[in-house]
Amino acid sequence: MRTLIEHLEFALLVDKADTVLRDASVVVDDDRIADVGSAAAIAKRHAAKSFDQVIDGRMLGICPGFVDSHVHLSETLSRAVFPDNLNTRAWVFHWAKPFYAHITEEDEYWGALLGITEMLRNGTTCFIDMGSQYDPGITVRAMEQTGIRGVTGRHAADNRPAELPRGWTEEMAQHHFFPNAEVALRELEACVRKYNGALGGRVRCWVNIEGKEPCTLELHVGAQQLAKRLGVGTTYHLATSIEEAKICEAKYGCWPITRIDRAGGLGDNLVIAHGAAVADDEVALLASRGTKVAFCPCSSFKLGKGATAIGKYPEMAAAGVTVGLGTDGVSAAGNMNLMRQMLLVAGMFKDARLQPDVFTARQALRAATIEGAKAAMWDDEIGSLEVGKKADFILFDLDHVEWTPFLDPLQALVYSASTASIAQTWVDGRALYRDGKVQGVDEKALRAKARQLAAAAVQRAGLHDESVETTTTLYDEGN
Ligand SMILES: [Zn+2]
Repeated sequence: MRTLIEHLEFALLVDKADTVLRDASVVVDDDRIADVGSAAAIAKRHAAKSFDQVIDGRMLGICPGFVDSHVHLSETLSRAVFPDNLNTRAWVFHWAKPFYAHITEEDEYWGALLGITEMLRNGTTCFIDMGSQYDPGITVRAMEQTGIRGVTGRHAADNRPAELPRGWTEEMAQHHFFPNAEVALRELEACVRKYNGALGGRVRCWVNIEGKEPCTLELHVGAQQLAKRLGVGTTYHLATSIEEAKICEAKYGCWPITRIDRAGGLGDNLVIAHGAAVADDEVALLASRGTKVAFCPCSSFKLGKGATAIGKYPEMAAAGVTVGLGTDGVSAAGNMNLMRQMLLVAGMFKDARLQPDVFTARQALRAATIEGAKAAMWDDEIGSLEVGKKADFILFDLDHVEWTPFLDPLQALVYSASTASIAQTWVDGRALYRDGKVQGVDEKALRAKARQLAAAAVQRAGLHDESVETTTTLYDEGN
């Protein structure tokens, strides 16, 4: 299949020079970008009769598909369940964990399908998913149905708290925690061997662990080393809040990133989710180890992680650390919309620091695309519109009030447009979202099913009870 998209109003290539083309054309051969350039140059290089399909790009703009560098697809049924006045640790231990302990395999499948549907509508073409509480095959099934690209895994932990908090059952603890790092890593290796490279390479399976208190140091370090040996990546939550950093300091005499580094666990195949509490010398440490960071602005806003107060994301980017954008789970952030993350990141540091040249729209678009692709170790194939790369991109409808009028497409994209103006989302040379529909999904039936499953899971987990704790001392001592 050979497609020409001609006379696009603009093409944001997100190549090294951040090239912006006007009156541009793109040639797609099967799953790849065969050519991109000015409409005149493309017309000279390719005979009109060589195309199977020609799309009129007038009143359309194109940019690379967004890469969500941190998401929890298995948690998509938990939208707007937990209160929005909890700090990260109470939120995780007293709300999120009990909820996810009650999620069934069926819930996970429908949650993943729902999450992917939201992503495709919002222009996301690839993700780094923290993984299933069961078998990654559940997520892979939803990826097969929709055609999206992504990294997934088997979400693992191995460090039970000394005492089970209220609301947790023994069964829940056993479901959540492997008995030790060795058993966990054996299971994760089996998952990588089974699913990495599935669906014609659209699926990558990593050695993913939860990270921080629910994982031993041995599991953190072992995950990175196992991933290295298997030629894949690993991702986990770390330095997610100032509370976590202070408890780490009290127990081990240093902040979380330093603790992992001292044990030899940082590497260029590791993506740290959040990285909110990071000291100046740890920014340099991340840069020297090639370790990547997935910054989740909406999650930080909702949970008060302190991105603007203590976050070092602009310093990380300036030091050469790959900083991608993530949505986190819908319970933490509320949405799976990278355009919202772009808008936030292109304003929050300017405003907090009274400095309008810190983390601009240009950097925000890079963070949502090519930097995310680097985090996923997939930038050789995705993240920019360049010849030979996969045809993963978004077409924007410019005959939309949000785009009327505009001169600079980059500013209009980041500060004016929303996902409401997305006309099509392409992955692997196929328009997976078009004509207002995610192809291959009965969206109305999906929403009805999701509502029914979510309500049942909330009841099972007892989270309709408002007396659930809003603070925690879990893991403060011991472990
Ligand atoms: Zn997360």
